[in-house]
Amino acid sequence: MNVNVVLSCFNPQWENHAHELIGFGQTLESGEKGKAPFAQGFLIGHPSFDWRSAMKRRIADEIVLLYFTAYSPEQVLSTLIPLFNTQDLYVFSGDFAGTELAVRSAARKGGSSVTGIRALSFEGGLPLVRKRLYSNYVEGRFLMKKPPFCITLASGLFEDTEHEKSGAYTGSMSDPRIINRTEETRSQVLDRTLIPLPSKSGLAEAKLLVALGYGAGSKEGVDELADTAGILGGEFGVSRPVVMHGWAPMDRLLGVSGMMTRPDLCIAAGVSGSQAFYGAIEKSGFIAAVNTDKDAPIMKMADVALVAECREAFALLRRLHQETEKQ
Ligand SMILES: Cc1cc2nc3c(=O)[nH]c(=O)nc-3n(C[C@H](O)[C@H](O)[C@H](O)COP(=O)(O)OP(=O)(O)OC[C@H]3O[C@@H](n4cnc5c(N)ncnc54)[C@H](O)[C@@H]3O)c2cc1C
Repeated sequence: MNVNVVLSCFNPQWENHAHELIGFGQTLESGEKGKAPFAQGFLIGHPSFDWRSAMKRRIADEIVLLYFTAYSPEQVLSTLIPLFNTQDLYVFSGDFAGTELAVRSAARKGGSSVTGIRALSFEGGLPLVRKRLYSNYVEGRFLMKKPPFCITLASGLFEDTEHEKSGAYTGSMSDPRIINRTEETRSQVLDRTLIPLPSKSGLAEAKLLVALGYGAGSKEGVDELADTAGILGGEFGVSRPVVMHGWAPMDRLLGVSGMMTRPDLCIAAGVSGSQAFYGAIEKSGFIAAVNTDKDAPIMKMADVALVAECREAFALLRRLHQETEKQ
């Protein structure tokens, strides 16, 4: 299996990505001293791009230059994918273009992709990649099984790589293959702006928090309990299984992978009380737990524990609230 590289030179930061890729290539066990870090390199860019300076870095033994009038992922993919060797591994830069090209290439060739990886080794001839997960709390190891293997690097890897100073991999390249697709350009994306969705949840500031878990049973269950939170003047957050089932949006997630809170009162309903979840509510002034299982861990963590079905308990709570409002 060859380890190859794909770099989009449309990105103004292409040089940083080239540094990262070369630094990463140097860490590979397969690399031989004095040789370029990758077997084949695909450089994607505009014909007016300064190819000489990119080539000087000698990122790969064989270079293929792919010319396009503008960066259009579909057009790049239609040129790039037929050039792939299905048994090889392709390392893409960790920028937006690298990520979309890696994931789409793997999907279309029936291979596998992992983005944002920090290290690569081989186990039984298959790539074993490592990446950080859950806000860097955990390191995941993934054995990739289906070739071609497409990976992207985590950003910030090898920022201080010494390869430029040492000159280890600089030198001239001979006869790059040039594939010119500039004439075929039809519609193009001229600009792209990523606008992060504003978090509307207000969880961090909530005085009353209703924390809902898998015990809510369904999306309808979550909606009903979340409505109760609103009626009581509070916010609702959820545990990971609730988000995973699509019963609530991601910006409601509580826990090490989500939001940390410090409400005056937290009502934890249908949650078991895993450590990954509990960290989000442990700074609450007072915790009330509702669970059908008296032995669930949350029942010991809470200040008051009610053994009950959560929808029934909340219906009672709503009735009590209405009665109090009337008085
Ligand atoms: C790396 C990593 C990171 C993670 N990060 C997070 C995170 O950020 N946030 C998070 O929440 N989890 C996270 N998890 C998952 C976490 O370990 C737990 O699996 C998860 O918190 C369990 O959610 P839960 O309590 O809703 O579900 P369960 O553990 O399935 O608990 C459901 C509870 O509901 C009770 N119940 C069932 N039916 C009813 C009913 N009708 N009425 C009342 N009670 C009922 C059950 O007795 C049970 O106690 C992470 C896991 C890993 C490995």
